[in-house]
Amino acid sequence: MTFRQSGRLDTSGVSGGGRGGRGGRGVAIGGGVGGIVVVVIALVLGVDPAQLGLTGRGFDEQGQNSSSAEQFQTHIDQCDLQQANSDTICRIVATTESLEDVWTAELPAQVGMNWVQPHTNIFTGRINTGCGAGSSDVGPFYCPADQEVYIDPAFFDDVLVRRLGGSPEGAAQMYVVAHEFGHHLQTMLGDIRRSQQDPRGPSSGAVRVELQADCYAGLWAHYATSTPAPGGQQPLLESLTEQDVDAIIQTAEAIGDDHIQKSGGAPVDPGSWTHGSSEMRRQWFVTGYQQGSVSACDTFSAQL
Ligand SMILES: [Zn+2]
Repeated sequence: MTFRQSGRLDTSGVSGGGRGGRGGRGVAIGGGVGGIVVVVIALVLGVDPAQLGLTGRGFDEQGQNSSSAEQFQTHIDQCDLQQANSDTICRIVATTESLEDVWTAELPAQVGMNWVQPHTNIFTGRINTGCGAGSSDVGPFYCPADQEVYIDPAFFDDVLVRRLGGSPEGAAQMYVVAHEFGHHLQTMLGDIRRSQQDPRGPSSGAVRVELQADCYAGLWAHYATSTPAPGGQQPLLESLTEQDVDAIIQTAEAIGDDHIQKSGGAPVDPGSWTHGSSEMRRQWFVTGYQQGSVSACDTFSAQL
């Protein structure tokens, strides 16, 4: 997936290490937020990071410090579209903007609702969120309570590629960002709570929520190279090749619960699944990609 080489890149929707002083923020977790999921919805794991051997990855005890947040922020501020084709952090920024363009067009057209862009935080170590303390150990995640996306860019090489066998291509990273934005749409539509109501098993609410986020990522890919940027400008993404789709499918399969269990040396135990098998994740991404339709992503009515 290639971004066009020139034009504006709005970096205001992404920040390095949270938008300052979250530790003291008075988010009413668990109180008066009826039905809002307060646990984070993580990309690869529903539960215990030890399952993947992710703990102790070398972050210091304090986790995120202010200097890494500043470094991320400086990096983000310097991103342009050209760099988004080679630099992971700039690619995340540009992908959030492409997602905004697509959902701003498609959500009113398909669902009759206006898109509200979620804020994205780039961090490493630990970060305070509306869902409590978040950690890089669980991989990229979405917090329904503050409706923000959290991504440690080191995840892509350290875990996704090296440990799980996902693709190193940029398209794989973009799919991950699009999947997290899928959870934001689920929060807007009220479906995200189904994850906690039925948290485990191959046809559980949790798995249906995850597969739907994969389908929504596919929907974004369907429109990403044809949706104009604001002001009628050329789409931010100018190409999406068969190789890109293969990279995404390889990655969707790598983060299937059965594959994660096998690669961690554990037996495959469908009863513990929270995200769905490799085959399910591949299938639902492809459904969204081929059909480009929110209603085609109704994993809750589907026979799983
Ligand atoms: Zn997810």
